[in-house]
Amino acid sequence: MNALPVPLVPVRVAGYAPTPRPGVVLIDDENFLTCMCRNRPESSGFETVTPQGVPCEPTADWPGTYQCNDCGVLINISPAIAWVEGGEAR
Ligand SMILES: [Zn+2]
Repeated sequence: MNALPVPLVPVRVAGYAPTPRPGVVLIDDENFLTCMCRNRPESSGFETVTPQGVPCEPTADWPGTYQCNDCGVLINISPAIAWVEGGEAR
């Protein structure tokens, strides 16, 4: 059994964040993600998935995990979203 990859928590940045950093996923102040592979919501986008990487609907018990549609990295936005009052994932 391989251990499941731990989803990355994106780093909050102010304003539009077009410049990715190696090994880091960014989330801007409008809660748009920029993956380390340069994927953005308006390019290939991100799939809502379970922590096991299975595509799912973002229901009330969805834990806030996304998978990058380009490089497949798992992302957990829940801790990042908590930083913004009334923040909503997109
Ligand atoms: Zn990616």
